[in-house]
Amino acid sequence: MPSGNLPSTYSFSPLNATLSASIPRYFSPRGALLIHMPTPAFHWARLGVDAPLPLRRGAWYRILKLTSMEATLNVKGKPFAVPRGQLELAAEPILRWTVVAAPRGAPRFPTSWGQQYAVCPSCRERAPLLDQPTAMRCQRCNGLFDVAWDEHYLTKAQPGA
Ligand SMILES: [Zn+2]
Repeated sequence: MPSGNLPSTYSFSPLNATLSASIPRYFSPRGALLIHMPTPAFHWARLGVDAPLPLRRGAWYRILKLTSMEATLNVKGKPFAVPRGQLELAAEPILRWTVVAAPRGAPRFPTSWGQQYAVCPSCRERAPLLDQPTAMRCQRCNGLFDVAWDEHYLTKAQPGA
């Protein structure tokens, strides 16, 4: 394609780009919008930092509303707003158990579960991880999912720390 044929008045409009990006893509008829921006529509979120929020660590929650500042999540049937920087976002449902380090100094945590446990991606049930299974069936929802051993969830250094 020859370059230099663009009219001299051609300009990219950031305003149009912003408007387009805020429209969920799945509502758009195929080809109706020319979006080439790396902004997937996020529908799921989980805690990305070890923050004292009423969210279960490792559990995915459905996003009800997402702005540049915060995400409103469906937490036990009620909307709950969380700063976006404290969340990990996903466009598609995650179908793997999250491996979570056992809490320190939590008297009600069963010591027989060892150093870590898993959180079901579907119903958020917690389950012990015995013998390092690669996949596990949830006792509560009966879903069979792989275990995300490679994630090292919440064990990475915190950004800015
Ligand atoms: Zn489950």
